[in-house]
Amino acid sequence: MEHKQSARVARDALAEMRASQQRSGQWHAHQMAGRRWPVACVSLEITQRCNLDCTLCYLSESAEAVRDFPLDELFRRIEMIHRHYGPGTDVQVSGGEPTLRRRDDLVAIVRCLASRGLRASLLTNGIKASRELLVQLCEAGLTDVAFHVDTTQQRGGYATEVELNELRREYIERARGLPLGVFFNTTVHAGNFDDVPMLAAFFVTHADVVRLASFQLQAETGRGVLGARLQQIHNDSLAQRLRRGTGLPELKFNVLAAGHHDCNRSAVLLVADGRAHDAFADSAFVQRFMRETAHLRIDRDTPWRALRSLVRAALARPALTLAALRWVVASAWRMRRDLVAARGRVHKLTLFSHNFMDACHLDAQRIDACVFMAITQDGPLSMCAYNARRDDFLLRPLPTAAGNWQPLRHAREGVPTVPAASVASFPIKWLKGRSRAAALRARCATASAPGRAP
Ligand code: SF4
Repeated sequence: MEHKQSARVARDALAEMRASQQRSGQWHAHQMAGRRWPVACVSLEITQRCNLDCTLCYLSESAEAVRDFPLDELFRRIEMIHRHYGPGTDVQVSGGEPTLRRRDDLVAIVRCLASRGLRASLLTNGIKASRELLVQLCEAGLTDVAFHVDTTQQRGGYATEVELNELRREYIERARGLPLGVFFNTTVHAGNFDDVPMLAAFFVTHADVVRLASFQLQAETGRGVLGARLQQIHNDSLAQRLRRGTGLPELKFNVLAAGHHDCNRSAVLLVADGRAHDAFADSAFVQRFMRETAHLRIDRDTPWRALRSLVRAALARPALTLAALRWVVASAWRMRRDLVAARGRVHKLTLFSHNFMDACHLDAQRIDACVFMAITQDGPLSMCAYNARRDDFLLRPLPTAAGNWQPLRHAREGVPTVPAASVASFPIKWLKGRSRAAALRARCATASAPGRAP
């Protein structure tokens, strides 16, 4: 009964996504949104607190003053995700920094996601994501971990992206051998744009563990202080730099589309003996294969299980099996030297670019075709739309069985209760990003005002 219901939910969600791609002019033969999956990912924020203060943080200026949502509310949101998109949906457990939440809570959240058949991924800056915690979360059902590491985080002792590679290596070792997909997120801004080829090369070198490297373009949203990006930083120039880093003369992006063309681009590499090859060089075959097997579920728990599901899918269609065999032989021939050197070991690495929007310049069509949602108390909402007006959701009291739950920390800590609270009234220890900079400026101005003691 539950199985039938889930299948209906997934069908409805797929049709809804397909309709949104059609409305936005993004529905074509190689569009995966609405064909293979109903949503790429749903973000479940379990705390607004963070132990870093990124120069491009998407959180709101009141984030540190917001209490952690009650567990029951998060369980309710997990149910909403399940009801809306069905099992198999990727859910990113994020924040703030999710590992700041009590460990018992974090484990219970991951366990709840897994029990509903949802794929739980942890988005973390890694500071508190010890090996021991990752092991415990794997046991609770975590499927992926995404480490966010870049120079916007201003980590002490790491002034450049090259220096941060040491930390990336440490995180890779922490996750090595665990049954987890390991991802890395990098925010791309003027200060590290020229480092993108070096970063792409780094991820190719570590493709034995890293499965996906996501590059997110600077956006003017949230409490970050860097503002809008330079004009020369965009999807195409990012793709060029990624290509350069892989050492490939040609690398095809968006052979398979994931939502709006202006939002997401991706390329898939096969890496053997440390050298990258374009897995989608024969784009016509890849598009045909994915289109004709769109109705089949791919087991994404490990690369081998994914491969096994794809082989099974191909075997069910003789014409497709023949085309797939041709593709395998042609790919193996192209990679022959590296395959011999690597004794047949091949790793898959996806390079992804994600073009978040400025809060003041939201494109309605892209919002409509959005494939990356945040789950709010009212249901799923495009992440860009949510980022642009976070406080409308975060500062609203939540009705619970025990009465209205107030989101801001208690008045006795120096803040008036909602709705009267404003960022200007928060103590400076609760401020980050823009609001902290403004508060410090105001404090300095007062201290240096004429007539005041130094
Ligand atoms: S979150 Fe923004 S950039 Fe990403 S898919 Fe949605 S609308 Fe596009």
